[in-house]
Amino acid sequence: MIHIPAYVDKLLTALREAGFAAFPVGGCVRDGLMGREPSDWDLGTAARPEQVKAALSGYRLVETGLKHGTVTALTSGGPVEITTFRTDGAYRDGRHPDRVAFVPRLEEDLARRDFTVNAMALDPAGQVIDLYGGREDLEAGLIRCVGDPAVRFGEDALRILRALRFASQLDFDIEPATARSLLRGRAMLDRVSRERVFSELTRLLTGPGAGRVLREYGEAVFQVIPELAPQAGFDQKNPNHIHDVWTHTTMAVDAVAADPVLRLTMLLHDVGKPTTFFTDEAGVGHFYGHGEAGAEMADGILRRLRCDTAARERVCLLIRNHDIKPPKTPRAARRLLARLGEDAARQLVACWRADNADRPAAVRERNLALIDEWEKLLAEALAGPAPCFSVKSLAVNGRDIMALGVPEGPAVGRVLARLLELVLDGEAENSRQALLEKAESLPESCCKSRETDV
Ligand code: ATP
Ligand code: MG
Repeated sequence: MIHIPAYVDKLLTALREAGFAAFPVGGCVRDGLMGREPSDWDLGTAARPEQVKAALSGYRLVETGLKHGTVTALTSGGPVEITTFRTDGAYRDGRHPDRVAFVPRLEEDLARRDFTVNAMALDPAGQVIDLYGGREDLEAGLIRCVGDPAVRFGEDALRILRALRFASQLDFDIEPATARSLLRGRAMLDRVSRERVFSELTRLLTGPGAGRVLREYGEAVFQVIPELAPQAGFDQKNPNHIHDVWTHTTMAVDAVAADPVLRLTMLLHDVGKPTTFFTDEAGVGHFYGHGEAGAEMADGILRRLRCDTAARERVCLLIRNHDIKPPKTPRAARRLLARLGEDAARQLVACWRADNADRPAAVRERNLALIDEWEKLLAEALAGPAPCFSVKSLAVNGRDIMALGVPEGPAVGRVLARLLELVLDGEAENSRQALLEKAESLPESCCKSRETDV
């Protein structure tokens, strides 16, 4: 039996007492049957939106999508979406129904839903209403379209990515006819808005089946990120690598924590490899500068997909630095911390580890030992007294520098930058007195205003 929380039950009761059929439907039933806590509860009802509003007049309601029949009730347990049973009209643009028609019966509503595991409802006695074999597919771990997959993907191409996303999130396979149709119909993905593509892609990437889904359905992913396509089957001709670039990429995605920024980074980290590839006289493949080239490409891809700026910049920073050698000295560690900041430096360590997950054992061990060493240096640098990796955390500020007679303007910044370098290089302690002394002894050229300053 699936437990329906009290705040959901109250809504169901209110709708039913007003004379309308109402059921929990979709993802919450699927999650409940899997023994998982549903992330949200969606209700389907025979009541029209105005009737829903009247029956739930005691609630704060948001008219989320009246045209599509959705009203959201804000309850003590969180928002609950209540959607009038509907069928979708024709889909001329391959994404949005031209119109939706409200219908009185749950059965018709279930038929418009995407996958069998998403097309179940719970009746008032707590029994599962399952018209399409959703339970069986849930047991077997299968994503299968409700109805003819070619028709369903043709109606709404977003379902192609939703199939991949659920296969990853639930760690399911895709039923063969559904799988064939989605690959065959992948060009229809060009009609889907980039925001929706990015949202589904991110959910795919952060699921437990991400690497496997990327390997099995690479062609569909290449439709939305064509820049990745040359990686498939790309022989690296290098003893440090076992797999072709795409297989390596999919394994690196799995090897990093399921965080959107880290997973996007690993998905795109080698996007610059095919374009920077060359073989030396011995026939060994190299990819010098692929971090820089890849960061440029990733920037374009993530802008196109409308990724938010903070995530895009972080992903590109990590990609740009992913193929540098881990620093071996405290000084190099401090310099890298100054360049990246603590947070990104830690993420970079996670990316290095993931990047090594599928190397030949000897290479992997050598690299992981280097990474361990750098992580120790990182911890030591951060644990020191008055750790300082930016001008902002210096023990002196611009006013102190001006008090020494340096004229206001760029010269102040130059002095502070020089002091930071001294601290990073271990030549000055980050204390007020030590820094003021150092500032006094800096060459005059650093402290004077220059003609070029104005
Ligand atoms: P999640 O846990 O990610 O919210 P969910 O199954 O609730 O999973 P939603 O995107 O919230 O997914 O959609 C709710 C339900 O609406 C789905 O379970 C499915 O029945 C139906 N649905 C959503 N999008 C589509 C679509 N594009 N085509 C057909 N049915 C859809
Ligand atoms: Mg949902």
